[in-house]
Amino acid sequence: MNMRLCSVLLCVAGLSFAGQTKTFKIDGMEIIAMQDRETSMPNKIFHGAPPEEINEAVPSGKSPASINAFVVKTEKHRYLIDTGMGTDMLLQNLRNAGVKPEDIDVILITHMHADHIGGLLRDGKPAFPNATLHIAKEEFFYWRQANPNIKQIANAYLKQTELFTYGEDLPIVRAEQTDAQKTIGVMRKTKAARIIDMTDDTFQGRDASGHTPGHTVFESNKMIIIGDLVHSAALQFNDPNICAQFDMEMPKAVKSRRKFFDVAAETGKIVLGMHLPFPGIGYILKDEGDHYSFKPLDIKPEETIEKQNKNDN
Ligand SMILES: [Zn+2]
Repeated sequence: MNMRLCSVLLCVAGLSFAGQTKTFKIDGMEIIAMQDRETSMPNKIFHGAPPEEINEAVPSGKSPASINAFVVKTEKHRYLIDTGMGTDMLLQNLRNAGVKPEDIDVILITHMHADHIGGLLRDGKPAFPNATLHIAKEEFFYWRQANPNIKQIANAYLKQTELFTYGEDLPIVRAEQTDAQKTIGVMRKTKAARIIDMTDDTFQGRDASGHTPGHTVFESNKMIIIGDLVHSAALQFNDPNICAQFDMEMPKAVKSRRKFFDVAAETGKIVLGMHLPFPGIGYILKDEGDHYSFKPLDIKPEETIEKQNKNDN
């Protein structure tokens, strides 16, 4: 576990512990943004640009940020994407949004830092008994070695975990399995009843490594979930070369950030970010030169739109 990350997040957090949820109905889907806590990211944790540039861009010394998780309701699935720092706030947020833990059938994990997997267990057991947990192979195997807590999660979810390869259609749906087959070790040997293409109901996990060895961006026909590509919206859209100190391999993190900023800008898909200021939903625009900007979704929660035009305003 990145303890430095935990302590920084805990130290700088504190503006709000209440948690909040916002529900958006967009293009036949429902997206519920859930805030674990509001936080801020101090200038000193960012590298890759001269300190003067960083201080000029964020004169207050702290970028507004958040710890977000999302529920995405499609026709066929109830996705939970990341789980925040702990079960209490997550379950309360879900309750507030009218979602029962047992309703969640797919969990997608962008990476295994504490502020993304903290809500998976309740009293040592899966908090989401009917969900299949999807994690990139690279991410899972790295952290299983690096952090004993991961073993606890792995054991609890042993019979309901799918370790995916980048580019696979998610959720992975398998034919009937025996109990013995429902383990991480043998699962990959059983034949999956595979979905053919990415649809409104499915995601694909994309290689966005750099922040962590198996950091994943999830993309569907309609949205791109960027995980921890951005820790400071105020700094990193304008200058994607800037990395937070939490990025384990900074040059790779920069490459991933640019790649998915481009994908998001070119496709105009809705972007969801785990540390973008709450509710963390909007569009990425390509600006002049080597710069990007983030345009938050400008509809009210509960307001239904068919298609938000990214070029509005
Ligand atoms: Zn994070």
